[in-house]
Amino acid sequence: MSQFVQFQVTPEQAKDQYFLKKRIEDELNLSSSNFEFIWRKRSIDARKSAIKINCTFEVYLEGEQIPTRVFYKSQNVKEKEKVAIIGSGPAGLFAALHAIELGLCPIIFERGKDVRSRRRDLAKLNKDSIVNPESNYCFGEGGAGTYSDGKLYTRSKKRGDVLKALEWFVHFGADKDILVDAHPHIGTNKLPHIIVAIREEIIKCGGEVHFENKLTNIFLENKAIKAIELNGKNKLEFKNVVLATGHSARDVFELLHAKGLRLEAKPFALGVRVEHSQAFIDKIQYSGRLNDDFLPPASYSLVSQINGKGVYSFCMCPGGIIAPCATSEGEVVTNGWSPSKRNNPYSNSGIVVTVEPEELPNYQKNNPFVALDFQKSIEKACWEAAGRTQKVPAQRLKDFVDQKISKDFPRSSYVPGIVSIDINTILPDFIASRLRKGFVDFDKKMKGFLTNDAVVHAPESRTSSPIQIPRDSISLMHPDCDGLYPCAEGAGYAGGIISAGIDGMKSIDAIYDKINGIKE
Ligand SMILES: Cc1cc2nc3c(=O)[nH]c(=O)nc-3n(C[C@H](O)[C@H](O)[C@H](O)COP(=O)(O)OP(=O)(O)OC[C@H]3O[C@@H](n4cnc5c(N)ncnc54)[C@H](O)[C@@H]3O)c2cc1C
Repeated sequence: MSQFVQFQVTPEQAKDQYFLKKRIEDELNLSSSNFEFIWRKRSIDARKSAIKINCTFEVYLEGEQIPTRVFYKSQNVKEKEKVAIIGSGPAGLFAALHAIELGLCPIIFERGKDVRSRRRDLAKLNKDSIVNPESNYCFGEGGAGTYSDGKLYTRSKKRGDVLKALEWFVHFGADKDILVDAHPHIGTNKLPHIIVAIREEIIKCGGEVHFENKLTNIFLENKAIKAIELNGKNKLEFKNVVLATGHSARDVFELLHAKGLRLEAKPFALGVRVEHSQAFIDKIQYSGRLNDDFLPPASYSLVSQINGKGVYSFCMCPGGIIAPCATSEGEVVTNGWSPSKRNNPYSNSGIVVTVEPEELPNYQKNNPFVALDFQKSIEKACWEAAGRTQKVPAQRLKDFVDQKISKDFPRSSYVPGIVSIDINTILPDFIASRLRKGFVDFDKKMKGFLTNDAVVHAPESRTSSPIQIPRDSISLMHPDCDGLYPCAEGAGYAGGIISAGIDGMKSIDAIYDKINGIKE
């Protein structure tokens, strides 16, 4: 039987295979050096100035078989029962793979383009401020996760599901390190290849992937889904439809509402994206040591309670770039991405506060769009303030806290450009004041964080969905529509690549149970 061993080493020792083998031999008192060891967990302990790496290894002695674990089962499903999946984000793609495993035939309809064609639209968005409403950082093959940092950590509690999701990424081309690192990430340069490999697998197994096919209508009969309409013309009959359209598909929320299906306003997060130099963050986090071949670019995770409400960092991208993530003309939205090496000179993170529908000025109890309308109004106000292009309002961090307009800026990674504006005048005071206090508090936790060499970009508004699409907790179907499975981030049940993927799989489990008459 294999044995586990844990110890701490320096970052240099963690990269030295010879040293590690000797250390394992000593730790386990082994009499022979004929053994295999496999990394199982790796995390950085940077709490003290002497930085350490926590290591966990699984050790197999000579003659012990290293088991091969199968996490994905491929099969031909061409003639099997068809399931429509709307959206090819992490939820849609993982739903499709799981459908194949369970012997169902996935048919994906995606409003955007394939990853390659999508890249051209992103270039136009960055260079010419042209927003293609069907092909952008949120819409297109792979969904919002494609051109991201590809962070794969999640608060999801079910370790088995998380491991399966990570193993799938490895199966389709991700580096095995993601199975080991405490904070795994893939990177924008690698994600598109993985997504293409997933698409090829779906098609090879008899499933279908249709790009530039937007869901424009649904047809119900006796409170059950009967058919879907694509691009305003093609009507196709389906008994089971997974709705995995993400948090930016505002037209889908409107469609469901128009069809009389219930929606609910839900709390969501809104704030700004702050950018420091990566070298500066490394210095703070690594006690003066700059990152080198032995340590990755440093990250941070900050949270503070201001008057009983959380202010927190979200989707921190070490060595990253701030991206224009609008999905329509007339709005600006920021988010961040990093390449696999995280080797850009900038470090950015969303800093957001939770917004409860009840605290909004336009709150009405029965209006499911109250939080969405507010989100839209902030994105529009930032667009107008910064000159009606994809430039965004910006302010040096300390100036933001002092409510002073910045006279000049250090370089920003945000390609469309920035405009000097007091962001406090755009964000409502209940958000801006919490952010200001949060930044002051963050500086106590991470000495030096509140510096005028950092730049605030606004707004960070698409971290979570402002609407929940209700679903039954067991059947996972919409309570007003049998056969409709709202899932993942857009429906308010997930946040992030891994949890969205897992929720997509859960929808397929529910469809499988329904088809096979399995009751919980
Ligand atoms: C720039 C950026 C960086 C990010 N970085 C990270 C990160 O590092 N780690 C992380 O965990 N999360 C990250 N996220 C968030 C993450 O991408 C999302 O949480 C995740 O993609 C949600 O998955 P989803 O499948 O629910 O929805 P989405 O990924 O939003 O996918 C929805 C899909 O549905 C399609 N669609 C919408 N409407 C229709 C329609 N009517 N008909 C047909 N198709 C439709 C869309 O085009 C889209 O492809 C990032 C997001 C962005 C934008």
